[in-house]
Amino acid sequence: MYIVQIASECAPAIKAGGLGDVVYGLSRGLSNQGHNVEIILPKYDCMRYDQIGEMSEAYQDLWVPWNNGSIHCTVLYAEIYGQKCFFIESHSNENFFNRNKIYGDWDDPLRFAFFSKASLEFLLKSGKRPDIIHCHDGQTGLIPVLLYEIYQHQGMGNQRVCYTIHNFKHQSVALRNVLGAAGLGDHLFTDDRLKDNGRHDAINFMKGGIVYANHVTTVSPHHAWEARFSSEGYGLGSTLGVHHEKFSGILNGIDDKFWNPKVDKYLPTNYGIADFELKARNKKALRERLWLRDPDKPTPRPIVAYIGRLDAQKGVDLVLHAIDYALFRSAQFVLLGSPTGNELGRLFGGKKNHFNNNPDVHLELTFNEELSHLVYAGADMMIVPSNYEPCGLTQMISLRYGTVPIVRGVGGLKNTVFDVDYDESIAPEKRNGYVFYQTDHSALDSALGRAIDLWYNNPEDFVELAKQGMRYDYSWKDPAQEYVKVYDKIRVPSAI
Ligand code: ADP
Repeated sequence: MYIVQIASECAPAIKAGGLGDVVYGLSRGLSNQGHNVEIILPKYDCMRYDQIGEMSEAYQDLWVPWNNGSIHCTVLYAEIYGQKCFFIESHSNENFFNRNKIYGDWDDPLRFAFFSKASLEFLLKSGKRPDIIHCHDGQTGLIPVLLYEIYQHQGMGNQRVCYTIHNFKHQSVALRNVLGAAGLGDHLFTDDRLKDNGRHDAINFMKGGIVYANHVTTVSPHHAWEARFSSEGYGLGSTLGVHHEKFSGILNGIDDKFWNPKVDKYLPTNYGIADFELKARNKKALRERLWLRDPDKPTPRPIVAYIGRLDAQKGVDLVLHAIDYALFRSAQFVLLGSPTGNELGRLFGGKKNHFNNNPDVHLELTFNEELSHLVYAGADMMIVPSNYEPCGLTQMISLRYGTVPIVRGVGGLKNTVFDVDYDESIAPEKRNGYVFYQTDHSALDSALGRAIDLWYNNPEDFVELAKQGMRYDYSWKDPAQEYVKVYDKIRVPSAI
């Protein structure tokens, strides 16, 4: 099958969170199964150019219809670790993709509406006719809308769209003038297909994606249920209800080459289940790197970690509390997090200062891919106390690195982590972590406390639990097959 992914991120070159991992990992998973996969991305100024192969011009003068005129673009081609990528470079005064950041500007919906339009224009003009266009999240929700309203009448009648929602909170809501800029009729607002379910003066790209795509997925089976039936659909539950027959949850995977402690190039010492004891060398290296004291002689201490965006979604209150609780229980704590707003930046900045001279805590308030690998390998436990978590990758990566996850039982966390003490639904030898359900401090304390108790009192059982986690295969092998089933269901047979 010929599949084109259209997205705003692709790891490791463009990554703000899990979306980037998924776009890269799924593409590689599909390529490994023999499919022809290409990825279309914006050409940002802030990409990690050191993670991208040599660029060459793929399409010189792409004129993209926009705002009753057209905008001149160039499309460049390069590989990101073996995956074929096309980068849209726009030469407009709006400077759409040269903002020194991926997201966070007032005109984000407009920027990504333009990207969506330019991607389809590129497919049209370059003669590319994929069986499947797979687009992702609010940023590219207009792709199926544009395809069925405009491009199918211009020679793209056989293309079908799979639309994956990674985060219902960020829906790309814009004023209706974006419709006109993108060449779409105002009736899409008045007849409710794109009108935001809450703000009656606005259009919603994600809603458009749900209404127009041939199939819609979100990133775990449990989150598919939450999005429809709880507040976690952020106002789109009713739209999903109308379109429930084409909506399903497919668990994300993790890239098994990129996230593999046996070959991970960022680790000072590689290790696997058979030589698990070598993991300790990474713990030592982590302490040295982050100026934590090494108390292993005479009294050893576990390292508890948190990696992730510092966002209300992630349960930041519990993250802060976990630092205090870990110290109280004689554990060390490492945090690698990127604050998503000024307020949280100030809050965590204050905490960082507070713990500055504490040899058992380190807060690193940046996005640092390389360091994240060392934290996954060096820590003993990883907390994921999210308020909601569509899938979550940190717990799956932690499992692969033999770092025991302690998670709140929501979304994909519920589908991937099984409590060692309490999960009766699964055999004891398949259990892999700790799960709590409430959002109060004592809920986290009881789960983290059980983990720390096991680490101190039954170290051999703790190592066995970590190894049980490492035996899980959360690679892209199965999820990629699930996606192929969806593609097969919706695609137009090539004979037509
Ligand atoms: P989300 O997509 O909501 O951010 P996920 O758990 O799905 O959360 O994915 C998070 C991904 O981003 C993981 O690969 C994680 O390691 C990475 N990550 C998050 N924050 C950081 C950071 N500050 N530095 C390095 N990697 C990070």
